[in-house]
Amino acid sequence: MLTAAPKGTKDILPDQIYKWQFVEKKFRELAEKYGYKELRTPTIEHTELFARGVGGTTDIVEKQMYSFEDYGGRNITLRPEGTAGAARSYLEHKEFAAGKPSKYWYEIPCFRYEKPQSGRLREFHQFGLEVFGSSDMLSDADVISFADEFLRTLGVTELVLKVNSIGCPNCRPIYRQALKDFLSKRYDELCDTCKVRFEKNPMRILDCKSPVCQDIAKGAPVMLDYLCDECKDDFESLKVNLQAAKIEYEVDPLIVRGLDYYTKTAFEFVSESIGAQGTVCGGGRYDHLIEQLGGGEIPGVGFGLGIERLILVLEASGVTIPKPAPTDALVVFLSDETKPKAIEIAAGLRSKGLSAELDLCGRGMKAQFKYADREGVRFAVVLGDEELRSGEATLKDMESGEQRRVAFELLTAEIGR
Ligand code: ATP
Ligand code: MG
Repeated sequence: MLTAAPKGTKDILPDQIYKWQFVEKKFRELAEKYGYKELRTPTIEHTELFARGVGGTTDIVEKQMYSFEDYGGRNITLRPEGTAGAARSYLEHKEFAAGKPSKYWYEIPCFRYEKPQSGRLREFHQFGLEVFGSSDMLSDADVISFADEFLRTLGVTELVLKVNSIGCPNCRPIYRQALKDFLSKRYDELCDTCKVRFEKNPMRILDCKSPVCQDIAKGAPVMLDYLCDECKDDFESLKVNLQAAKIEYEVDPLIVRGLDYYTKTAFEFVSESIGAQGTVCGGGRYDHLIEQLGGGEIPGVGFGLGIERLILVLEASGVTIPKPAPTDALVVFLSDETKPKAIEIAAGLRSKGLSAELDLCGRGMKAQFKYADREGVRFAVVLGDEELRSGEATLKDMESGEQRRVAFELLTAEIGR
């Protein structure tokens, strides 16, 4: 019998779901306040979208994608991230024709063939935000403000915002060469992955989790010293905008982000309390992604925020997440004769906006009370033969244990108080 979910995937059980619903509600509310519209795109896309968009030399495209050929011979991939799909949709529906920036948010499952560990899964979930069509640093500050406010609204205060600029195709090649010159002296010490990165994507070495590579990275030249005038000006305006929004940040030249398409702004919100997988939210600007996908020169900026990691942070920082309201009433019936009345009473309570349950297994009174206790149900409405005859149910307050008789037609008023 198959009784285990695939490695790296997780069930979210009913007793945990309230944490998800809590963050989802907050994210949705904030999106409305900032004027971002929800976008839902398919879980599968053409493999080519990621190979072109996310970049052929990234970990994702090289070894993390869940790809398959479908029965029609198409190459299909379960999306490893959200930006490429959002950009594809934006182009497909010619959203750019409206001549204004498009501001989207989404909540999506993502799939990456990773080595599972705390905060690292093969199916995980992200909130994402994207702005297409604005090169103004105000949009970078807008998405960062959103993430910052979202985290603060949830009561998370321990995250540090780190920002950096990773330049553009004008200035990055010069830096890349300087970085390679530096790293070549210590090439032999690099981990095996970084030896490969050295040729393909040396900036990723700055982001390596291995202690030796991290140590080497500390002394490396930094992109900030190589920015062209435009990138330098943009980085300055980003900082001015963040200050105006009263957002605290650190400039960290080692923030490079994993995907090839990023330009200029790169940022992360990092936690110290959930171990090695501490980046809860990562994002940045991707001014050439849309072109790479075959569209025009349309800039963009956005972030991905890992929901599993966010919940780990909420738990680690002792934030109290409100539990959902308990059911108002369990209508307890004690015989087949009282069952129809029980169904009627439960329906009546629900029609008045209260929540009501019936025992679906026809168990005895004791078992039903036990259930009500365990679930934290507020009231039991007991219907025996005597109650049916008299037209008055026995109403038991499950918390105080107090019991009294209440006429059927007054139940809603009594429970709804
Ligand atoms: P990492 O360096 O931790 O691998 P990444 O650079 O691959 O992260 P992004 O592609 O920027 O991550 O994804 C944005 C966010 O999604 C991350 O900051 C993280 O919160 C979350 N995330 C990424 N990969 C995973 C995963 N395998 N499991 C759970 N959450 C993840
Ligand atoms: Mg990764």
